[in-house]
Amino acid sequence: MNKAFVREPDQTVDYCPRCGSKGEQVGSETLKSYLSDEQRRMIAEPANFCPSPQCSVVYFDTFERAISTDDVQRPIYPKDPTAPLCPCLGLTREDIERDIQEGVKTRVKAAIEKAKSPDARCRKLAANGRPCIAYVQRYYMRCLEDREY
Ligand SMILES: [Zn+2]
Ligand SMILES: [Zn+2]
Repeated sequence: MNKAFVREPDQTVDYCPRCGSKGEQVGSETLKSYLSDEQRRMIAEPANFCPSPQCSVVYFDTFERAISTDDVQRPIYPKDPTAPLCPCLGLTREDIERDIQEGVKTRVKAAIEKAKSPDARCRKLAANGRPCIAYVQRYYMRCLEDREY
């Protein structure tokens, strides 16, 4: 048997059928907050979130069935750059930009503090089911770098 065709038992990585990005696995808790019961029946769980900002696919499964941004009622970051980076904390890019402009970290710090507290419900509310603070930190760093060059 050719070893290349043997799937690793723990291999759960799927790639977006539209853009080829590596999917981020999401469970039913997350899918329930974004999809209707009918939509949830259309894709297998665990499904994957496509993290590419340019791609219109939000969720897809191993069988390449996909749910796109048009099918989902809520704006989703990073597909929609004006959507809150963190749906559970409501922090937007604008908040972060304001912090940078003012030379403070008030909003970002408050979000990070809140993310560590029981108020954080990223698993349920973040579109990819992951702590959205990673997005906050990444965007903050990007703004800082833009400022320096
Ligand atoms: Zn994609
Ligand atoms: Zn969150």
